[in-house]
Amino acid sequence: MARLAKPVIMGITPGSPADAVGLKPGDKLMEINGNPVRDDLDYRFLTADERLELKVVSATGESRAVTIHKEFDEELGIDFGGKATFDGIYTCHNNCVFCFVHQQPRGLRPTLTLMDDDFRLSYMHGNFITLVGISEEHWRRILDQKLTPLYISVHATDDDLRAFLLGTDKARGILGQLRELADSGIQFHTQVVSCPGLNDGAALDKTITDLSALGDALLSISVVPVGLTRFRQGLYPVRSYRPNEAAAMIDQIEAWQQKLAPEWGTVLVHASDEWYVVAGREAPPAEVYENYDQLENGVGMIRLFLEQMKATTERLPAELPAPRKVTIATGVLATRTLRTAADWLMEHVKGLTVDVVTIENEFYGPTVTVAGLILGQDYVAQLRPRPDLGDLVILPAVGFRETDFKSLDNMTLDDISALLGGVPVTIAATPAELADKATGGGLLPEKKKRRLKSLRLTHYGEAAVVNMEKDPLGRCERSPGLKSPLGE
Ligand code: SF4
Repeated sequence: MARLAKPVIMGITPGSPADAVGLKPGDKLMEINGNPVRDDLDYRFLTADERLELKVVSATGESRAVTIHKEFDEELGIDFGGKATFDGIYTCHNNCVFCFVHQQPRGLRPTLTLMDDDFRLSYMHGNFITLVGISEEHWRRILDQKLTPLYISVHATDDDLRAFLLGTDKARGILGQLRELADSGIQFHTQVVSCPGLNDGAALDKTITDLSALGDALLSISVVPVGLTRFRQGLYPVRSYRPNEAAAMIDQIEAWQQKLAPEWGTVLVHASDEWYVVAGREAPPAEVYENYDQLENGVGMIRLFLEQMKATTERLPAELPAPRKVTIATGVLATRTLRTAADWLMEHVKGLTVDVVTIENEFYGPTVTVAGLILGQDYVAQLRPRPDLGDLVILPAVGFRETDFKSLDNMTLDDISALLGGVPVTIAATPAELADKATGGGLLPEKKKRRLKSLRLTHYGEAAVVNMEKDPLGRCERSPGLKSPLGE
């Protein structure tokens, strides 16, 4: 049954066509030219016309119709407060053996347990969707509105295996779905969340073989390792990858890259950063990541971070006016990258000392190594015993809510600072921001001193980041990686 959309207008641009006909914040935009406005996509499609008949319901419940004449593609001037969908988020009905949501404790943010499977957020924000049990109406909409590219969780192309992994017989037929998308001119990025002994090895070879037969519609394949927490109880027994297995996975994927690159002009298949960290190997050079198409899935973050750090060199002061020491705390996964960055900074800035402290995830368990899932209490417990935190503690912005800078366990930066004896505590999201804060400021233009806006939450990979500013719905999707430049 269709859900009731609530497209509440939050703001009107002065002088816009919407302003001219008297639309006001608080009004609901129910229809455009007889069509419901279910989400930002509908709004964008429907407002491209020059003549618009709007059905509007005021905050007090009065319905009225207004007609707007405007230039083709002229902005109507309505702001929905950054909301992407007006009828909620379509959620999944799967029961994946690796589901990260099923491994969450009670009492954390609702955004950590939202099981989004919404094709609109896949198109608009790059969230991964499974296409399992998608309704005919939604499928038609994807095809009719040509929503391309999409981000699709494949995991395995073998029907029996995919049904097992996703916990439902409705997961069968992914190749047919992908073929239909391809035939309709819709392209897609894909991902495989790899579980030891289940969909790796020969099963992964089959998946890559099948996907690469789809032609130009296939834009990329990422392979990410399953993420597990200590709250995984009563679920199918899945374990983490060991270093030698991670190394074997890299070898397998790099063999595919060499095989596919001559024909495709792209390596097509990527191992996420975590494989390299677990295997203890250097991340590949920047060329391998091409356009960094799956960056938010944890593919290429390490390399990009290091490249961006190097790019700050020219702006670094050669020497600080007074000696300065800062402490950078991060998760296990990012430690090596941050140490490289710290060495880089100390090499170029005289008078700067940078300590990098690895924070073990006591709350979720040792297999959760990303910075995005570190709680404030773990930062405090593991930093407090250290004798000298210096002039500033810098934490990864990932894992702190964008709106109020609170950690997953609702600690503010001031709370953490107070518990660390008053040493100032800040967050950084980019290499430039890290360099700026480490050296005492002045590297960034004022307007650049902002956090990244497009970080993501994952539920079966390990990283977790929510972008509440860009997506006030608090999306959660099955993209396993977030990866803030600082975090993972
Ligand atoms: S992993 Fe994603 S698709 Fe699978 S059950 Fe969890 S929320 Fe649903």
